[in-house]
Amino acid sequence: MFPTAFHTAFPTAIAGSLPKPAWLAETQKLWPQWKAQGAELIEAKGDATLLWVKTQEDLGLDVIGDGEQARQHFVHGFLEQVEGIDFENKVTMGIRNNRYDAQVPQVVGPLRLKGRVHALEARIARAHTQRTLKFTLPGPMTIVDTVADRFYGGDREGKIKMAFAFAELLNQEALALQADGVDIIQFDEPAFNVYMEDAADWGVQALERAALGLTCKTAVHICYGYGIAANMDWKNTLGHEWRQYEKVFPALAKSSIQQVSLECFHSHVPMDLMALLAGKEVMVGVIDVASDVVETPEEVADTIGRALQFVPKMKLIACTNCGMAPMNREIALRKLEALAQGAALARQRYA
Ligand SMILES: [Zn+2]
Repeated sequence: MFPTAFHTAFPTAIAGSLPKPAWLAETQKLWPQWKAQGAELIEAKGDATLLWVKTQEDLGLDVIGDGEQARQHFVHGFLEQVEGIDFENKVTMGIRNNRYDAQVPQVVGPLRLKGRVHALEARIARAHTQRTLKFTLPGPMTIVDTVADRFYGGDREGKIKMAFAFAELLNQEALALQADGVDIIQFDEPAFNVYMEDAADWGVQALERAALGLTCKTAVHICYGYGIAANMDWKNTLGHEWRQYEKVFPALAKSSIQQVSLECFHSHVPMDLMALLAGKEVMVGVIDVASDVVETPEEVADTIGRALQFVPKMKLIACTNCGMAPMNREIALRKLEALAQGAALARQRYA
């Protein structure tokens, strides 16, 4: 199990997703097509998971993930195992407050899990690493922002009801993942940075419903999204200081969730916002996933050093700003190498 205090200062972790090898799926796409089908695809997903577990270990990362190799997309990978969703008839919907259009499935009936969602990759990852294993699930609020509602009424009240229905299903899978031996369960809630009032009002509560009864560590990843053009354009409209986290951090600080992430390197997030997370472990984004320029270990250590003004040494996790799914694989590898080397340098400097 994950220790209550870290064995090392500044443990390193990925946010969640990693690039898929070209033999598994189309590369550098957010919704890639698989290269195989049926049993062959299942085997390929498992192989890619094992490959990334080994690679993360070799690079020296402390918290290991499955790299989300077995899911097409971080939200839809979960939804594929949910009854009451029509995947055949997807509709185009503006998501993240109309930041970009996506082809989304429709909720058309009562929601129920068809069975386990992520047992394959969680068990493979657990069988092949002794290190802390983190597993990611989409958060309820982000899920309801990535599906079309044709069942819950389509209004705000329906949206909240639907979020809590998804939270129950997420909770079932999270408890099963914990039983598989996962040490940290992280819910991804990029929607928290888009609907700040709703996030503080009911999003955090829905998140806690999803985490109910978990005895492993719990985490939430919030971010400004993958390094895709629509996100870059959006960031350019946010002004000099990105204060979105300011609205939701106080609600998270009061919640039972133990780890919270934020983007730091190359973002305009004021670092002092971390002070709003007193008592939490903070996943500090020290690697920019929206740029192909590889960070130097010095840059990584510098970001850690600046974050130390606001986060106690033993509560700081060095992390990527967001997932790396749409990145070039070689660049992602070099960035992860810089993450591990930069954290090592920070240990020399600040430990
Ligand atoms: Zn993210």
